[in-house]
Amino acid sequence: MQRNAYNAQEAAFNLGIRIDLVRTVEMAWQWSPLDRAMMISVDLPRHVVNEAIAHCICHVELASTAKGTAALNGQWWRARLEMDIHTIVAERLISVEALADAISITDNIADVAACLGTTEFMLSWRLQNLTDAQINELPIFALNRLRWGPGHDPDAPARCGWPVPGTGEVYRETNIGRHRR
Ligand SMILES: [Zn+2]
Repeated sequence: MQRNAYNAQEAAFNLGIRIDLVRTVEMAWQWSPLDRAMMISVDLPRHVVNEAIAHCICHVELASTAKGTAALNGQWWRARLEMDIHTIVAERLISVEALADAISITDNIADVAACLGTTEFMLSWRLQNLTDAQINELPIFALNRLRWGPGHDPDAPARCGWPVPGTGEVYRETNIGRHRR
């Protein structure tokens, strides 16, 4: 079910981007930015399809830019272009207002993502890239109780904990196993 405000399929249609829903096991999705065409598996969950199309739209939009062209030619860091795209998509899919509502209703990343109709990855990306001004529009207690931070992945090498509000104490937990690898 489409829960966030951004309907990628409609946006693609308005931009003249062709979306072909195909049944395939090998390939989740494939696109050609210059041809403004995309193939996507019909078997993916609806919110994943929405994000994939939103991602494709950004590739099409950026394909004609200097950086997009350079990335295609191997003259610009492609991973940076992907990061730029994640940032744009996360902003389109998760408005500050919707995020404020979702984190007020529920208190963990999985439920907030479900509430917003996005993947946890997209929610994490949005949280990581909130501006100070956007953070000031959100209920801070609700952000804090998410217990989310960069390196949310349990395998991350280290993370900081804030045990008691107001004590000024922070502890840092290091994942030793990870460092020995
Ligand atoms: Zn991409």
